[in-house]
Amino acid sequence: MSDIKIGLEIHVHLKTKEKLFCRCAVPTSQTQMNRTICPICTGQPGSKPMLVNKAALQAVTQIALLFNSEISKKMYFQRKHYTWPDMPTGYQRTISGPNVQCNGMGGEFLGIGIEEIHLEEDPAAWDPQTGEINYNRSGMALCEVVTKPEFTSLKKLEEWLKEFILALKYLKILHEFGIKSDVNVSIKESGYSRVEIKNVSSPTNIVKAAQVEIERQRETVKKGDKIKQETRRYNDELETTEFMRSKENAQDYRFTPEPDLPIIEIDNEFIEELKKNLPELAYQKREKYAKYKFDEETIEVLVSNVYLTEIFEFALEKELNPKEVGLFLKREILRILNYHTHDFEELEKRNIKEELITLITLLAKETISYTTAQKILEILYDKKINVEEYIEKNNLKQVQDTSIIVELVQKALKSAPKAVEDYKEGNTKSLNFIVGLVMRETKGTANPQIVNKILLEEVQKL
Ligand SMILES: [Zn+2]
Repeated sequence: MSDIKIGLEIHVHLKTKEKLFCRCAVPTSQTQMNRTICPICTGQPGSKPMLVNKAALQAVTQIALLFNSEISKKMYFQRKHYTWPDMPTGYQRTISGPNVQCNGMGGEFLGIGIEEIHLEEDPAAWDPQTGEINYNRSGMALCEVVTKPEFTSLKKLEEWLKEFILALKYLKILHEFGIKSDVNVSIKESGYSRVEIKNVSSPTNIVKAAQVEIERQRETVKKGDKIKQETRRYNDELETTEFMRSKENAQDYRFTPEPDLPIIEIDNEFIEELKKNLPELAYQKREKYAKYKFDEETIEVLVSNVYLTEIFEFALEKELNPKEVGLFLKREILRILNYHTHDFEELEKRNIKEELITLITLLAKETISYTTAQKILEILYDKKINVEEYIEKNNLKQVQDTSIIVELVQKALKSAPKAVEDYKEGNTKSLNFIVGLVMRETKGTANPQIVNKILLEEVQKL
């Protein structure tokens, strides 16, 4: 029996091209301050929202479908009023609030119940230290996922968040701004008196914030004090939670229907189309790939990125050896990313999937050697090339013709009498030197196993 309860209200930044109610491009972290703005998303007097962005509506519905929520077919936006520098209109438009059908109601994901899923607009980013306001984010589409308070351990919280983020990535709808979450924490010793930690910014911080809040609550009870229902914030530098406001001063959001937007209606066709295209998720792929008997690390690397799973599964369709492909992807892709200190997102941005598939196919068919494949991958990562053309132009096809290899081996043996002598005296390792000579001569395009085999034959003849 566990004695903690944690619930989440997760805000997901959706990766759409445009904002929710205007045509402004959705910013990236590189976008200069206040560059993707217009009268609508800065809430100028007299401005009205445009019709809701359909891509955002689709994304929220996909999440709801993934979590088996009941999908509402008729919804409307409400104005959630509050006064804060990040919201110039004085209200946030949201498909939530009292008496409103959210986009998705109920549901479940990996053992944790879902309360509701809804679409809303992101406020601007306000820096209380400097007073600066960046409106780039203002009006971006957010999906809020409210879970039931069913996390009873930090481990479950951590694992669940990992799979949650992966699911959003598999849907290809997670913006680089990621997620932020309100975290509700309560412990048995206080009779589950609920404390809310506002706006925690990453999965790591969410787990950390829950951990330090549990510790704070336990110590408070130990001292004989009461846990008050209140709202706190997480200070990630000090790794503590700090008091923000008490429940008595809870905000009254005065929800009112948004008169400037029509009722949203979606039909079965819209839902069925999305349902049809729901991806298989990481945890399902993990089970599926288990039959290839990879070590745990290889499986984790493969499923950590939907892009890699696509390449891997394409290779399976082509009946390439799953183990070889999986190991090549794990070893070589990780090697490249580590070298550049990049992450998988960077790999995806390179848009080299087709070429990677060609490269792996040619390696599997032994048209090119492993060393050549490694070198081409390095080049491909730096600059998109046509792999087949590149191999042709630079003469990189693996030398399959054994007569050529025999000739090269004989030549190498002649040029290194010392190594031959050492070998005859029992130093078998000295042959590696000869293999090296042949590989150098063929610029790494000879098959090392064949070279070894022929070398052993030829050296006997001397
Ligand atoms: Zn705008």
